[in-house]
Amino acid sequence: MKILIHRGSKEIGGTCIQLSTNKTTILLDLGLPLSKTSKEINLSNIKVDAVLISHPHRDHFGLIDTIDPSISVYIGETGKHLIDATQMLLGKELHNNKFKYFKSWQSFQIGDFTIKPYLADHSAIDAYGFLIEAEGKRVFYSGDFRAHGRKSILFDKIVHDPPKDIDLLFMEGTMMQRSNDDFPTEAAVEKKIYETIKDQNNISFLISSSQNIDRIVSAYRACSKAHKTLIIDIYTAWVLEQVKLSSKHVPAMEWDLIAVYADFSQDKKLKENSSFFGDFRKRVYEHRIKKEQIAENPAEFLYLSKMSKSRVMNTYKKETPINVIYSQWLDYLKYENSEYFGAENISAFRNDPKVNFVYAHTSGHAEVKDLKEFANALKPKMLVPIHTEFSGKYKELFDNVFEIEDGKPFEL
Ligand SMILES: [Zn+2]
Repeated sequence: MKILIHRGSKEIGGTCIQLSTNKTTILLDLGLPLSKTSKEINLSNIKVDAVLISHPHRDHFGLIDTIDPSISVYIGETGKHLIDATQMLLGKELHNNKFKYFKSWQSFQIGDFTIKPYLADHSAIDAYGFLIEAEGKRVFYSGDFRAHGRKSILFDKIVHDPPKDIDLLFMEGTMMQRSNDDFPTEAAVEKKIYETIKDQNNISFLISSSQNIDRIVSAYRACSKAHKTLIIDIYTAWVLEQVKLSSKHVPAMEWDLIAVYADFSQDKKLKENSSFFGDFRKRVYEHRIKKEQIAENPAEFLYLSKMSKSRVMNTYKKETPINVIYSQWLDYLKYENSEYFGAENISAFRNDPKVNFVYAHTSGHAEVKDLKEFANALKPKMLVPIHTEFSGKYKELFDNVFEIEDGKPFEL
């Protein structure tokens, strides 16, 4: 089996790994890099048979619109729906790739390759690792994963019953030099949210991704305990509808203590794409909350929000400060690119006497101790660093480490 890492051996995000036999070539992820200084990759001279997307985070799928749309793109069905949700509510075209869906633990074939998807615990739902077999070799690609989320049972499952005889393991190492000690679990995040909102005298905002379902569950549970209402936007309500199709335990807009704020521009997208959204818009209106209702008693609410919404947050500042619970990766506050629009204004809240700035976040990625447990369970003949800024550190922590550099072909 021939291996070529196009990108990802020395950076987080933008991962793309090529595996080939004489007959078949597949790509593992085709991500948009997080760093602006990341090198561009050129796939124009490669005949690709299929792309496997591990999960619906942009740094893993974000370049699928750059390839020939006749190439099959394999992904979990819920993941695809989440990607569609974002496109529709941003007013963009749906991706025109040839999507094919796989299911957890059900092997499928692409030419010479047999692939078995392993559902994983990550901050994106519908996230997978892949066992890939061809020409008598067995490769495992971890994708992004962790052991401390609400689906940690998936981590336990793979370390207790690991795939055997792994020749090569690509293992992510996002957390190689980072600690998760402040909030080691999602439950610790939930507790912090609860403590922040329970005796509040003004509104709280929670800055988090609408696709981090674990976090929305934490927010909802904190609200239930504190008898507050969670306000979500139309996009989040739609995301929760998609997730509901495969999991009944996630909150939905119909639930008590959830209300939808119908932002004008998102509502316009629903109106413009009524055939896509069906009766969703009508149902949103049954659960919507208006600005005036929030203003009447702001202390009753936790408002799930985005970095770009600092203007809305500012309107609630009174003598009593508002709570701004920052519940995502702190480094997003540093990024100046448009994707993280608003970082400066949110950063400024840290020194604003009218804002009580609270940090509450646990990583979507495995800590070093869990990476060790994972590597020890899979016992690969070779362990190749991927999705990490510290590939050089792997040798100190794991056995059989072998670095493959971006752009350097390797024969397994
Ligand atoms: Zn991810």
